[in-house]
Amino acid sequence: MDDLVSLCKRRGFIFQSGEIYGGMQGMYDFGPLGVELKNNLKQAWWSSMIYENDNIEGLDASILSNPTVLKYSGHEDTFSDPMVDCRECKSRWRSDLLEDDKCPGCGSKDLTEPRPFNLMFKTNVGPIDDGDSFAYLRPETAQQIFTNFKNVVDSSSKTLPFGIAQIGKAFRNEITPRNFIFRVREFEQMELEFFVIPGTDEEWHKKWVEIRLSWWEQQGVCSENIELYDVPKDELAHYSKGTIDVMYKFPHGLEELEGIANRTDFDLGSHTKNQEELNISANVMDNNSSNTRLAIQDQETNKWVVPFVIEPSAGVERGILAIMNEAYNLEQLDNGKERIVLKLKPHLSPIKAAVIPLKKNNEDLVNLAKNVKNSLQKLNLGRIILENTGNIGKGYRRHDEIGTPLCITIDFDSLENQTATVRDRDTMLQETIAIENLQDYLIKKING
Ligand code: ATP
Repeated sequence: MDDLVSLCKRRGFIFQSGEIYGGMQGMYDFGPLGVELKNNLKQAWWSSMIYENDNIEGLDASILSNPTVLKYSGHEDTFSDPMVDCRECKSRWRSDLLEDDKCPGCGSKDLTEPRPFNLMFKTNVGPIDDGDSFAYLRPETAQQIFTNFKNVVDSSSKTLPFGIAQIGKAFRNEITPRNFIFRVREFEQMELEFFVIPGTDEEWHKKWVEIRLSWWEQQGVCSENIELYDVPKDELAHYSKGTIDVMYKFPHGLEELEGIANRTDFDLGSHTKNQEELNISANVMDNNSSNTRLAIQDQETNKWVVPFVIEPSAGVERGILAIMNEAYNLEQLDNGKERIVLKLKPHLSPIKAAVIPLKKNNEDLVNLAKNVKNSLQKLNLGRIILENTGNIGKGYRRHDEIGTPLCITIDFDSLENQTATVRDRDTMLQETIAIENLQDYLIKKING
């Protein structure tokens, strides 16, 4: 973990938030390379969900959440962790994560009884803070998917099974944020709510576990470092009938990377009940006996059903940590030296190629390098940079460490023959490629 944290800071992936004022626990900022990596991971998820499945739609809903939504979703009452205070050193801890019931701070066993601590952040809405005018920062992205269920169904004519997917910030006032970006207070989730006919839910649950495992593998997370945890009944979240946690061997231990829950009809059912209780005059269904608002017609039986929901929910930050952990390699070279190389899958690499002129003050070389950069950038595969430091060796080292798949050197032969020397990050082999073929070469490298 220390090596990863150090690389992240040194090369501009991840910084502690507000570091110049001492930082804030459980919050991190993504730097120039981190934001590229994060965007690439989110794009890979978005493509795999929405672009590759015509029966999944996207959503980008508000973060500030109406308290009523989180009341009826059960979060106000149950979204808490058990907290204890240490009477000795006055620190606070999550009691279910303690070892031998000892305070991790001072080792004392003089702890209070555990009491529930609600993890939701509150903020005031509007100019008057009278205690009633508050909103929550959403603790998961899922609820806005449920509250928009009917909007999406009506506007996109969906039939079961279908999904709504969203990527966005979630906030949890974790009692003890720790392990770098593993457990933080502000993070991003990539969540799919997949709506199915009740009775087919268990089969779909299994399918989604398989789909998600294969997706993580495509992102470079080796299946050998993953274990599935079938969450026992007494540990299930209030909405879940069954949850499979995808556990990854993080540098600090085996922990949850993604949760895949069978949320049944809990959320849609609960919001429907709330609407009925409040007598909200939503578009009442126009057929048979059902006046259920958050329901959909089963095409086969024509009956209105409240669908069951399968929810694969992954954390972006935990994904980044797992992917960087997999990619980080310290290699011994033949010349007795070492190199750090980040063997990221090329589609995730923050920089796809670095174009390096052999001499930084030679106008012809630099101009040709600029042209090559511009022509590759136009492909829209991600960021291409012109690395005009005049030090090829240093350039290679930096780009190995940040996971750039290709370094393209422009030298005097390039001026004469219109060729470039392309160095592969993983093999360190160099090839001479005609400049006119560089676009195709890069496309193959990035897209496989
Ligand atoms: P944990 O048991 O580790 O607290 P959880 O079961 O509460 O996690 P979920 O509610 O299932 O987590 O959230 C779905 C995903 O969101 C998790 O698998 C994880 O990747 C991510 N996530 C949840 N809490 C955090 C956090 N505090 N920091 C970073 N990512 C988080």
